[in-house]
Amino acid sequence: MCQLSKEQRIIYRFKIENTILTVELSDSVLAHFNQHAQHSDASPEAGGQLFANITEDGSHWFVSSATGPRPSDHRSRFFFHPDRRTERREIQDEYEQGKHYVGDWHTHPQQSPQPSASDTRSMGEIFEKSIHQLPGILMIIVGTHSPPEGTWISMHSSLGTALPLPFEPSPRQGRG
Ligand SMILES: [Zn+2]
Repeated sequence: MCQLSKEQRIIYRFKIENTILTVELSDSVLAHFNQHAQHSDASPEAGGQLFANITEDGSHWFVSSATGPRPSDHRSRFFFHPDRRTERREIQDEYEQGKHYVGDWHTHPQQSPQPSASDTRSMGEIFEKSIHQLPGILMIIVGTHSPPEGTWISMHSSLGTALPLPFEPSPRQGRG
């Protein structure tokens, strides 16, 4: 099992239409993922929702809390069906703390996880059904390798699926 250092954060950049959206995962969110990753053969899938503090111009999401799994979720080694009623309550509670629902996370028993067709389809449906003003919503899948290799992240909207821009050592983002 990997350990994440206290300072470790991961920053992704997405190009949505003509703007760059920065998504930063907090230490505590990464630690939460690591805690629920399916490191053993017996661990069931886990998942929950992602909440972020968003800058006024909408260009930076600091994902500072990840909820779930909850006792009322339906879980097995290969599927995770969240309790939707609890999810709605979480959205309300987090909103009162100034945090916005920005997507979902779940685990896969794979080193470097890939979304299933139904994962991708359900994110598109959630985007259409949710009440929000976001350009897209996030799907994070937590594998058994440590991040970033072991973590899938994608942005879903009516335009389809967007993957993050490649990691670059410098904070300046190229245009290629
Ligand atoms: Zn999945």
